[in-house]
Amino acid sequence: MSDPRPTPEISVMVPLYNEEGNVVPLLDRIGEVMSRIGRPYEVVMVDDGSTDRTAELLKKAVGERPNLRVVFFRRNSGQTSALAAAIEFARGDILIPLDGDLQNDPGDIPLLLEKLSGGCDVVSGWRKNRKDPFLTRILPSKIANGLISLISGVKLHDYGCTLKAYRREVLKPILLVGEMHRFIPILASWQGAQVTEVVVNHRPRVSGKSKYGLMRTFKVVMDLMTIKFMGSFLTKPIYAFGGTGAILFVLSFLLALFTLWEKIFQGVWVHKNPILLVAIFFALAGMQLVMMGLLGELLIRIYFTSSHTTPYVVREVLESSCAASPVSV
Ligand code: UDP
Ligand code: MG
Repeated sequence: MSDPRPTPEISVMVPLYNEEGNVVPLLDRIGEVMSRIGRPYEVVMVDDGSTDRTAELLKKAVGERPNLRVVFFRRNSGQTSALAAAIEFARGDILIPLDGDLQNDPGDIPLLLEKLSGGCDVVSGWRKNRKDPFLTRILPSKIANGLISLISGVKLHDYGCTLKAYRREVLKPILLVGEMHRFIPILASWQGAQVTEVVVNHRPRVSGKSKYGLMRTFKVVMDLMTIKFMGSFLTKPIYAFGGTGAILFVLSFLLALFTLWEKIFQGVWVHKNPILLVAIFFALAGMQLVMMGLLGELLIRIYFTSSHTTPYVVREVLESSCAASPVSV
């Protein structure tokens, strides 16, 4: 039997972990905003192994409300995994993630859609007037955001805002692990997507409590290092390691020459000259780095041949109209 409902164009995706006080008001609010917009939509909620009544409330809601899809996790796997699952199960072409604690305002969705229809691929929310504790959340987040902009070269104010809008295509090649969901605009931009941001509302949490503290900033910085490395060097690790190794070799050679010069012209014996030790250290470290680069080269060959990942993204394939032979991608 075919499904009489239209395929949703927009999927609103929500990760939920112990949000019993927020599930129903959030569903109400999303329903209200989406029916005002009037385009076919669905809501994909992911219960990330909640231990309170969240799952029970979601089960009940599925029986009562239209356009709702819920994915239940067996155990808590984190917000990024919940979003990855939501993406997997969403059917819309436009994907809109938002937090399940009502801190993001579904009322901002029309604004995001408007930006998206203006030709962007990713619209990121900016919680300009953020309602969270200053010392443990806003300050570390400001520092992290500055660092991320600097290192990634993508200029956004607020990577951590869950409320964003994506065209589905830009998410296809992105692997979501760790705290990676906040880097989607960067990864997408590196692959040629048009990324922009809009100021969105932010509200204090009224029910339940935040699942995060300062530790997250540390994880974010580690993930930032990973994406920077992957983005710049995934295809050529020997450039990263070999380059640094080569610099150390040159330094080592110059320092060794210097110790020789000191011996000949100043009479300083090498066993009394610590610079020689520095030269030896640089040579060893340089050699190790070059070796690591070569190992990296070996690993990426295994990576690209064993998975279906390609190191490039095809935007389109053009065919001549006389179609001599079919082209498959
Ligand atoms: N969340 C989740 N799994 C987790 C932690 C959080 O699905 O392990 C959800 C949570 O229910 C909320 C969203 O992720 O909908 C953001 O979490 P939170 O409000 O705690 O983060 P904050 O707003 O404090 O940054
Ligand atoms: Mg929150």
